[in-house]
Amino acid sequence: MECHEHCPPRLTSRLPKRVLKITADHVYLREIPNVSAPYACLSHCWGPYGPAIKLTADTVELLHKGYATSELPKTFRDAVNVCRRLGIDYLWIDALCKSICRDVIFEKRLRLTGLGILQDSREDWKEAAATMANIYEHAYVTIAATSAQDSKGGLFSSARPLVARLDKHPHLYIREYPRTFPEYSHEFPNYSYTEDLKPWPLLTRAWVYQERRLSTRTVHFGEHQVYWECQTCFASEDASEDKVWKTDSNGRYGNTGWGDKIMDGTRQWQQIISEYTNLKLTYDSDRLPAIAALADRTWRLRRSDDVYIAGLWRNSILSDMLWTSKPFELGKWGQALEPRPTRLVPSWSWASVQNAKIFWSGYTFPDTTKIVSLNYAVIGAAHLGEVSNASIVLKTHVLDLTGTEISYPPWSLEIIDGIVRSSPPLGSFARKNSLDVHCSFHQDYDLTTAQPPYMLGHVLKLLASNQGYSALGGVVVRQIDEKPVQWERIGFLKIVFMKAKTYGESGYRYMAWYRDDKWERRIEELIQSLPVEEVRIV
Ligand SMILES: [Zn+2]
Repeated sequence: MECHEHCPPRLTSRLPKRVLKITADHVYLREIPNVSAPYACLSHCWGPYGPAIKLTADTVELLHKGYATSELPKTFRDAVNVCRRLGIDYLWIDALCKSICRDVIFEKRLRLTGLGILQDSREDWKEAAATMANIYEHAYVTIAATSAQDSKGGLFSSARPLVARLDKHPHLYIREYPRTFPEYSHEFPNYSYTEDLKPWPLLTRAWVYQERRLSTRTVHFGEHQVYWECQTCFASEDASEDKVWKTDSNGRYGNTGWGDKIMDGTRQWQQIISEYTNLKLTYDSDRLPAIAALADRTWRLRRSDDVYIAGLWRNSILSDMLWTSKPFELGKWGQALEPRPTRLVPSWSWASVQNAKIFWSGYTFPDTTKIVSLNYAVIGAAHLGEVSNASIVLKTHVLDLTGTEISYPPWSLEIIDGIVRSSPPLGSFARKNSLDVHCSFHQDYDLTTAQPPYMLGHVLKLLASNQGYSALGGVVVRQIDEKPVQWERIGFLKIVFMKAKTYGESGYRYMAWYRDDKWERRIEELIQSLPVEEVRIV
């Protein structure tokens, strides 16, 4: 470990405000300990009912006086034992060291089931949730109960891979290959993160995503073996998955990046959001709070003049706003779309979409696009990203889609002739180049729930952007106000140009991606031929 170039040495940072002191058979809750010492963090699933013991007004005295380790839920007990074996005297467990954090979520659930009542301290809780970044970042090690469903699951699994000896060759044996540990994915949008995570309950939780990302080093207790994950490498107990991460020379993306760490900051944040939005969030209103600690960390790695606005960054907003959504439920695509939540998130933010995976597919606005103005009022801590009265005014090339029926089917890859028919520039471009046009519309929300109501014939515009040689696309906005004229984002449209070719003697006709050297320029010219307008999106 000492020779890991990109890993911080054994940290003896100041202890968190509340932490457990470990002794031979008890744990003691220490408040504001004025000592510097290495400590460990526990990352775990609360499960539907939460751990049997939590820090509350009733238990605080008990925890101060010392709580028998043998009485702790199994996962906590196992974590204490791991600390003792590693010679670490302090352990931070959210349930026992943070009274307001996930407690509120838990109490909210109790209230929903009619079992208890709690004053809503949601604002405090949101602020506190964001400060968790420091706790995980400064811990010596994070102990992750990766395969446990709840605090009763424990760290150590009795499930071992199947091993069989060969009768005729007693010195040889065969062993079942253990499941591959889920890495952060780099292939978007095709990778089904949620589906692959089923045997790893901890990694399916959106709240836990930033705990893993922020930890300096994590020991994962899996179903079949133990894994090591740090800034330099990933290693498994059986050595089958050992790898060293790529890092740039100054380790700039050291603590948040994985795999290809030379990735630029813009793409890196978009990748984080793509992975994060694929995970389970019990309450959709937690979308921004549950990633706030990572936003705080990201801000420290970006230019100091950057501003975090509703999950997007001001310095890369033209790229950040070109997201696409796919509705999902546990990795199953195509479920009915959700209504747009009423909370204060601008329609151009990915956080305005519920229960959908967010991804970026390499679209860019033309260089001529200008941000005329960007207005917002920050609510609460900056890294929460919550804003009110947000609007962005863009001066850019637009394609009029008024009268086009694009709201059905909600998510599909279809040829939508209407778009070509109702948009003369697109139609003549396709005819001139003998091309077929394929469109897919990724709707942000269920348009039947739109306010004001969405109707066919509504004024619609596409803010044109391109994706290299074969596709034109972009954000689709509809007019929702006349004085002043305001627009709302309703989805992302992809228009792909294809050429029909005949194949062989049978004359079989098939579609091929059209590409030649001049192609990218032609799409650029098509965009430049569209009128430039100022569009205020709220
Ligand atoms: Zn390391």
